[in-house]
Amino acid sequence: MAAAAQNVLVVEDEASIASFVSLYLKNAGYTVRTASTGSEALAQLAAEQPGLIVLDLMLPDIDGIEVCRRIRTRSDVPILMLTARDEDVDKIIGLEVGADDYLTKPFNPRELVARVKSILRRSVPAREARESAQIRHGDLLVDAGRREVRVGEEEIQLAPKEFDLLWELLDHRGLVLTRDQLLERVWGYTFAGDTRTVDVHVRQLRRKLGEASPIVTVWGVGYKVSPARDGSQE
Ligand code: CA
Repeated sequence: MAAAAQNVLVVEDEASIASFVSLYLKNAGYTVRTASTGSEALAQLAAEQPGLIVLDLMLPDIDGIEVCRRIRTRSDVPILMLTARDEDVDKIIGLEVGADDYLTKPFNPRELVARVKSILRRSVPAREARESAQIRHGDLLVDAGRREVRVGEEEIQLAPKEFDLLWELLDHRGLVLTRDQLLERVWGYTFAGDTRTVDVHVRQLRRKLGEASPIVTVWGVGYKVSPARDGSQE
């Protein structure tokens, strides 16, 4: 696990960018593999799971968003997306499909290395620490070890960040969390001005959980969890 976390897969078709990103990551002590197309990235991933993926949005075959979506159907490996300038919508979509972070081109490679370190540092212990934890809230059962959510007998499929957001709110029952706090806790740091990401994920959670959604909007502040109707909280 510790060794795998040091492997980074860089997916980028522009050879000059792929090579300088690889160089900086290698100098920072990571083992780097590269893929120049989306299908090559998926094939490499099936063969060996890296600790993190740096994924360019613009690829010649399958675009980065679709690659990210496909990866997320079977893995929650951290993904750092690279996007071109002025692609605000794509940034949000990138996060919606489950990327952990993004950088806008052109970027400083030192910034990229710093983000990679930060994502790896935050993702591994957070997932290990709550391996066996479960939270029940009314009909809702959230199992952190299995990363499963059930409403009664029915299993609800959540994207990794939707799961993390729900967990964070349930784990702080009784408290109001601001969008900035949720960004920092779930995504690992503060995005300046990108708190819409939180709203998008809350909307998805409400849609997927329906009546069982415990999330309450606190206008002008953020979100909290309502008390369970039958008082069953563990
Ligand atoms: Ca590209």
